[in-house]
Amino acid sequence: GIYDPDTDSLVYDGSFVQRVVDRLEDKLIKTDLDLFSAEAHYTGLVLLENKPVVYSIRPILTSQETGPSKGFVLRGRYIDPSLVSNFIKQTHVRFKITPVADRTKTYNDELVVTEIDDETLEVSRYVFSYGVPIMLVESFFPRDISAQGKVAVQSALFTSVLLGFLLLFALWITLRKVVLEPVTHLTQKATAITNTKDYKKRAQVETSDEIGELSRQLNKMLDVIENREASLEELLARLKELSMTDALTQISNRLKFDSVSEMEWRRMQREQLPISIIMCDVDFFKQYNDHYGHVEGDQCLVSIAKTLEGSVARPADLVARYGGEEFVILLPSTGLDGATHLAKTVLDKVAAMQLPHAKSDVAPHVTVSLGIASVVPSEDNSLLQLITDADNALYQAKQNGRNTLATN
Ligand code: GH3
Ligand code: MG
Ligand code: MG
Repeated sequence: GIYDPDTDSLVYDGSFVQRVVDRLEDKLIKTDLDLFSAEAHYTGLVLLENKPVVYSIRPILTSQETGPSKGFVLRGRYIDPSLVSNFIKQTHVRFKITPVADRTKTYNDELVVTEIDDETLEVSRYVFSYGVPIMLVESFFPRDISAQGKVAVQSALFTSVLLGFLLLFALWITLRKVVLEPVTHLTQKATAITNTKDYKKRAQVETSDEIGELSRQLNKMLDVIENREASLEELLARLKELSMTDALTQISNRLKFDSVSEMEWRRMQREQLPISIIMCDVDFFKQYNDHYGHVEGDQCLVSIAKTLEGSVARPADLVARYGGEEFVILLPSTGLDGATHLAKTVLDKVAAMQLPHAKSDVAPHVTVSLGIASVVPSEDNSLLQLITDADNALYQAKQNGRNTLATN
């Protein structure tokens, strides 16, 4: 039978007990347990008349605690409201126990958290015994605990996000300082150098990383370009000079005369000043060549060129070899009087050279004839006309017997 220890009275008779044992035995045999073995000691939960009971089973043994056992003692206790309120007092956790009424349904033993209202959170779970659902335990917690948890999670989240941002910011700053700024500097320098063609400029990244190395290599490249540019400029200047110089006499050539005379013509036109030209031709030079030979003829032309160059004084004056044994003297800011004066000097200086000319009909030495033309540039005249006039004057000087000058 089942006895209530408080009142020491029989609560259930043997037939009820037999049913309980049958059920327990059924459960326990299924789980390979032997109620009568000396070691048996089982505890569990069972529903009796829809009330949950916590029980323990011990075999009845001899005083020496030896078997075989002839029976067992089952002690059970209802989990009733008084027990529950006792537990509540001890644990300070409010909870409720509800026996499982409908065995046909299936239950699982998952922990379920439900928000009851703003202040309460419910945590519930079905309790099983040997695979049989017995009761639902629901406990209630004030929400401030979970609210505190929420705050903790939120502040942790906020801290993480803030840290993340700080990290990103630091990374950005570093990237800017280490990569972006030097690369931008290099790009700007390279662009400026390309645009201005000033190869004296240098990049100024002096770090020991790859960008610093790039900067140093760029500067090395610029060294090479700068040197090459300088020698190229030198070469170009030399080439220009050569192209404007007569190979034999080393004075200016026809090309130089053409460009300078045009420039000076325009300048004189602007300033309304006269410009003069003296055409100069060696007398009986064919005979000179025939008599003394071409080598000697060339040498004679070199000497005359030197003398002509020595005759002009102003920086703007230009002496050029016009072709063959003809020379031209360009005299900007000089009128007919000045040009005539200079022409006389030239005649004197050439005569003073006293280069022997055995075949000349006019003198025993090399002489020249000079044709002078002068004009103030305007719409009514031209440089070409001025040159033609000087040429005509030269023809006149030849007609007049050579070793003389004529003006147009
Ligand atoms: P004119 O007094 O009328 O000027 O007589 P010319 O013999 O000087 O005149 P012409 O134009 O008939 O002859 C020019 C000569 O000058 C022809 C050529 O033998 C010579 N000549 C022209 N260029 C050079 C040159 O570069 N070197 C030498 N050695 N002779 C040259
Ligand atoms: Mg001639
Ligand atoms: Mg001649």
